Amino acid sequence: EFGDVVEPLADALGAAVGATRDAVDEGFYDAAYQIGQTGVTVSPELYIGLGISGAIQHTSGMQTSGTIVVVNQDQDEPFFQIADLGVVGDLHEIAPALTEELKARK
Ligand SMILES: Cc1cc2nc3c(=O)[nH]c(=O)nc-3n(C[C@H](O)[C@H](O)[C@H](O)COP(=O)(O)OP(=O)(O)OC[C@H]3O[C@@H](n4cnc5c(N)ncnc54)[C@H](O)[C@@H]3O)c2cc1C
Repeated sequence: EFGDVVEPLADALGAAVGATRDAVDEGFYDAAYQIGQTGVTVSPELYIGLGISGAIQHTSGMQTSGTIVVVNQDQDEPFFQIADLGVVGDLHEIAPALTEELKARK
C-alpha cells in the first residue's frame, strides 16, 4: 500500500511520507517515520492523511500543519474535525487519481 499508493503520490508532490503507529506496528513502514506522541512532530505546508482515523496520539504530531487534507471512507472519523479539506472515499481510488492528475499537470 505504501509502495503502490502513498509513495507515488508523495513523489508527484515532492513530499515526504509519514506513518501512524498502527502502520508501523503492522510492519508497513519504518518506525523512524512514525508521526505522533511517540514518534516525530511534523508541520508541513500540506499534510494529506490517507486512511487515518485521527487519534489524538497521531494528530498531536501534525496538527500545526498548514493545510490538512483527510481522505477516509468513514465520514464519522475524528480526523475530519481538524481537516481543512475532507474527502470521503476509498484511498485506493482517490490517491492514484490525484497522483495521475499531478503528473499530467507537470
Ligand atoms: C500511549 C500511546 C501512544 C501512541 N502513539 C502514537 C503515535 O505516536 N502515533 C500514532 O500514529 N499513533 C499512536 N498511538 C496509536 C493511536 O492511538 C491510534 O491507534 C493510531 O494512530 C491509529 O492508526 P491508524 O489511523 O492508521 O489506524 P486506524 O485507527 O485503524 O484507522 C484506519 C482508518 O483507515 C480508514 N480506512 C480503511 N480503509 C480505507 C480505505 N480503503 N479508504 C479510505 N479510508 C480507509 C478507516 O475508516 C479508519 O479511519 C498511540 C497509542 C497509545 C496508547
